[in-house]
Amino acid sequence: METLTNTTYPGQEIQDLVHDQRAYFNTNVTLPVEFRLKQLKKFRDLVVQHEDELHEAIYKDFGKSKHDNQLTEIFPLYEELEIAIKNAKKWVKHRKVKTNLLNQPAKSYLVPEPLGVTLVIGAWNFPYNLSLIPVVGSMVAGNTTILKPSELPAETSRIMAKLINENFDRNYLHVVEGEIPETTALLNQRFDKIFFTGSPQVGKIVNKAAAPNLTSVTLELGGKNPAIFTEDANINIGVKRMIWAKFLNSGQLCLAPDYVLVHRSIKSKVLERIVHEIKKHNYSVENNNFVRIINDRNFDRVAALIDPDKVYYGGKMNKEERVIGPTVLNNVTLDDAVMQDEIFGPIIPVVEYDTLDEAFAIIKSFEKPLAGYLFSNDETAKERFLTEVPFGSGGINEAVMQNNNSNLPFGGVGNSGMGRYHGKYSFECFSHFKAIIDKSNIFESDLKYYGHSDRQMKWIKKLS
Ligand code: NAD
Repeated sequence: METLTNTTYPGQEIQDLVHDQRAYFNTNVTLPVEFRLKQLKKFRDLVVQHEDELHEAIYKDFGKSKHDNQLTEIFPLYEELEIAIKNAKKWVKHRKVKTNLLNQPAKSYLVPEPLGVTLVIGAWNFPYNLSLIPVVGSMVAGNTTILKPSELPAETSRIMAKLINENFDRNYLHVVEGEIPETTALLNQRFDKIFFTGSPQVGKIVNKAAAPNLTSVTLELGGKNPAIFTEDANINIGVKRMIWAKFLNSGQLCLAPDYVLVHRSIKSKVLERIVHEIKKHNYSVENNNFVRIINDRNFDRVAALIDPDKVYYGGKMNKEERVIGPTVLNNVTLDDAVMQDEIFGPIIPVVEYDTLDEAFAIIKSFEKPLAGYLFSNDETAKERFLTEVPFGSGGINEAVMQNNNSNLPFGGVGNSGMGRYHGKYSFECFSHFKAIIDKSNIFESDLKYYGHSDRQMKWIKKLS
């Protein structure tokens, strides 16, 4: 079988691939739900058979332990596969809606149809999760798919290309590995859907590339996610949950709390508790399971955000091993380097506030974030947070775990993205819903035809 693995792709080869996938899609072979189920089951079996190789690859790339890999990559992938396999027959059915009186006698319904040839571009920080879960959505919706995983975790990119390209028809599902030139060559093609996960900067490039063909785009991006602690927050439980969310993948997580907004009256208690939790869970440079920073460029970028004068705890790092220890910064202001962009590393800047208005104003001084978290027992604060603060998804007295409920969609808003997926939302993300009126021929009223009297118009208004 022809593969496009680990090569530099001339534009022509990519053009041919997209052309061949379109021809394949146009044969209608991907339309029957039985076909989709067969492919999804094959995909699931492949992951089951090669789980150990998947663990090894990601450990080589950035020291992610088997336990972390299972929890944040492999189990969520299985879950999405199971949901898709279980629900595919239901999802592909026509969705009935009510018919208004004017249109009677008729049925009205939505017909889901696949979009066609899709491109999925993955990010590096959860390479399996962020590449393969969108692919599941594309498959269950009946599309053909080209996946371009992030090149930064080279081993995971390679293993995904190997497993998929050796086991699936390239006209149906194929991995193209590569960096910016290969991605650019892909973006120069006409797709029916582009699903991109990554930074807002590259998101804009993708959106621009899609525009000439009016290609539908889903952008899963990032931002500066706040975690607010109000005066009456349960500090012990809240800090424990927040710390776990922050140091998962060493803060290299789009949903991680980026900075902490703490009410002045509880700041010292929160700071103490953060250190207590860091020590309790042995998050440290010395811990081999504390995930490495992905590459030297990111190591230098994150390290430069640590202002030694503001270090309350931590600040340790090992450049050779590309590991930065958990670091807490105190008395942080909005002018500090750490508050300029998304951190994407294991630093917690603590910013104090006096009133909720002040805290919300700080959040709104940034672009709309991907996530927002509130730790509070105050019902008014909760309601105000939900209604006044814009963000993609979030938690009340919890962080990141909203992403572990497939009944909730995952996606951003504004600068943190557009569109949503997971579970049934993935199917919808990769489908178009044709709106159909299906009319009976029993009789035809003259109401809608020309020559309306005032009386007829009154009836039309009533029946509409
Ligand atoms: P990135 O934008 O640098 O890269 C993402 C993908 O785009 C990669 O596959 C890369 O090869 C490709 N790419 C990079 N530069 C390109 C260019 N000039 N032209 C075309 N393609 C290009 O992002 P990243 O470093 O992989 O991930 C970090 C960012 O992604 C953070 O902002 C984070 O918040 C965000 N993120 C978002 C989510 C989400 O689901 N919303 C998940 C993970 C990461």
